[in-house]
Amino acid sequence: MINSKGPKTHFRVCNLCEAMCGLAIQHEGDQILSIKGDEKDPFSKGAICPKGAMMGEVYKDPDRLRKPLKKTSNGFVEIGWEEAFDEVANRLNAIRSSHGNNAVGIYAGNPSVHNYGTMLFLGGLKKALKTQNSFSATSMDQLPHHFAAYFMFGSGMRVPIPDIDRTQYMIVMGANPIASNGSLMTAAGVDKRLKAIQKRGGKYVVIDPRKTETSKLADQHIFIKPATDVYFLLAMMHLIFKNNSIKLGHLKQHVQGLDDLKNVAKSFSPEKVTHITGISVEDIYQIIEEYLATEKAVIYGRMGVSTQDHGGLCHWLINVINLLTGHLDTIGGSMFTNPAVPLVRNKKGKNSFDRWKSRVRGLPEFEGEIPVSTLAEEITTEGEGQIKAMVINAGNPVLSSPNGSQLDKALSQLDFMVSIDIYLNETSRQADIILPPTTGLEIDHYDLVFHALAVSNDAKFSRALFQPKYGQLHDWQILKALTKRLSKKKLSFFYRISTPKILLNLALLTGPYGKFSSVTNFFSGLSLRKVRKSVHGIKLGPLSTMFPEGLRTSNKKIHLAPELFLIELEKLNLKFKDSTTPLAQNSFSMIGRRHLRSNNSWMHNTEKLINGKNRCTVMINSNDAEKLGIKNNEEVLVKSRVGSIKIPSELTDSLMPGVISIPHGFGHHKKGTQLKVAEANAGVSVNDITDDLRIDALTGNAAFSGQIVEIVKL
Ligand code: SF4
Repeated sequence: MINSKGPKTHFRVCNLCEAMCGLAIQHEGDQILSIKGDEKDPFSKGAICPKGAMMGEVYKDPDRLRKPLKKTSNGFVEIGWEEAFDEVANRLNAIRSSHGNNAVGIYAGNPSVHNYGTMLFLGGLKKALKTQNSFSATSMDQLPHHFAAYFMFGSGMRVPIPDIDRTQYMIVMGANPIASNGSLMTAAGVDKRLKAIQKRGGKYVVIDPRKTETSKLADQHIFIKPATDVYFLLAMMHLIFKNNSIKLGHLKQHVQGLDDLKNVAKSFSPEKVTHITGISVEDIYQIIEEYLATEKAVIYGRMGVSTQDHGGLCHWLINVINLLTGHLDTIGGSMFTNPAVPLVRNKKGKNSFDRWKSRVRGLPEFEGEIPVSTLAEEITTEGEGQIKAMVINAGNPVLSSPNGSQLDKALSQLDFMVSIDIYLNETSRQADIILPPTTGLEIDHYDLVFHALAVSNDAKFSRALFQPKYGQLHDWQILKALTKRLSKKKLSFFYRISTPKILLNLALLTGPYGKFSSVTNFFSGLSLRKVRKSVHGIKLGPLSTMFPEGLRTSNKKIHLAPELFLIELEKLNLKFKDSTTPLAQNSFSMIGRRHLRSNNSWMHNTEKLINGKNRCTVMINSNDAEKLGIKNNEEVLVKSRVGSIKIPSELTDSLMPGVISIPHGFGHHKKGTQLKVAEANAGVSVNDITDDLRIDALTGNAAFSGQIVEIVKL
């Protein structure tokens, strides 16, 4: 509880999404008076969105869990922490003894990476569990970025970020940063940054099947058929080679595989891909000419490009094209961060691919995880290594993963499940034990991941505003307590005394801005004490050239044409002809969409955020709707191989003909949750119709975008 006489202002970073907006929170005691953007934050400069302003609502949400829950025949009952930890450990250890370590699976949801306590202590729990059945939201989101970075640059975290603040020409593919607030491009106030490109005489172009909020402010918007981005990118590469526009600059001596690329690009001329992509030959020529003619230019692709059949190829090609044209590792192009806590530390890249395979479908592991699309089958398919128990950390995969209904049923068959979650939601309702951590304003925070994915180098530490109440525990305390009980080895003294602050301080001192003196044998430079003192955050400088020093491949070269990618491209070439078959009149290619007033599945209990018009609608092109006799706001049935949903229609001219759009994260109608989402805003889950068998064959990432569905007028 805060001791306060009169209003005070607390400065912190918002950790709800990737943007890292600084907040200025006026409060009196534990009453929040206002939440505004922090004008003095050097990174976000006062930016804020409706979600950030709702942090106080989540803090005081009466539906938030504050004590552990145990499922009984009479429903969930509150129990003490020690009893809860012992129960979890006893049940999980018994399952491991009978069925082996792989019988316990673990899943980490998206909020895990927005919380430094989880980031620093979840790894310990995974080590203690010793399971190969580790899953996370990564494989239904940004896995293709990491995959391309790993094979090209030697580390999955060496992900290039568009230098949005200095570029003069930006091609935005399958991304809607004005609604998502930027992703794998942490850029608070991204709308202002995009407008600044135009103000300094530059241009940004959006290529997307929907004329999104970002497209509406763009200099140009070009429709593309969902999941055909790979062909557009190949046509760009074709023209780069054809026109001899290769400009490797300072990377000339540090690349391998250039000739292989030249060969693969031959088959994909603009004339050949125009039909499949829906982009005219003229537009393809215009885009490539402008991009090549601009010294500071960049291609940026995100969700719509990542979560489709060819996500891995797309992100590889984006990196390749930026590199071939002198737009990678150069100012105004695609660059790399040098964060105060580096996520790429080792000098030599370590092998993090295909060390084991998923049991049922045989998909390779990447960085210790197997694709989440395989989770349900790993639970329901009998045999050695079958998952019998799950640990779910800050995740709601029943709503967020493909074929969520199937996963829901699979979870109900487990022998035991524990959820670490602040809500009794659609997934945690299947748990035997729920362990609720503190959240938001009750935690200290340092963005370990998003400083490493930001458009400039900065550091900011946020102190907790409120102390935990009612004997609440932080996430890291929960993870540590479980690790202690589940580890078969004696934990080190250092681990036992570690806290997030101790680990963060060490990471800062040994990072690129910390200094070690061999005279005093002491670390100086940037420390937690220094970062804490600057309540608005510290600017460490713009993105700068990183290669060749930053390469982590074993031969210190950039691998332009890794074998796996070439094999996948060959397969793409073979099926090229089949891909142009027209769709039946009531069949559509489906894409997702984002809204500023939604945060995946977990903020819909915040009434002030979600109220207003129902945003869970199926957008459909007005002409397409007319042909099917569908009127605006009329309930229709949308069907796929795995299921069907009934959802109101929203007629629009912003969608390409033949495409429909449904947002994810809704479907809060399942029995047994404690959420109070009003019926009008509960929506339906699009993941009851997304197909778990549709994956990017290269990376294993879920392929949501471009799924073919049928619409039936009711
Ligand atoms: S944009 Fe993201 S970080 Fe900024 S206030 Fe909104 S939710 Fe928070």
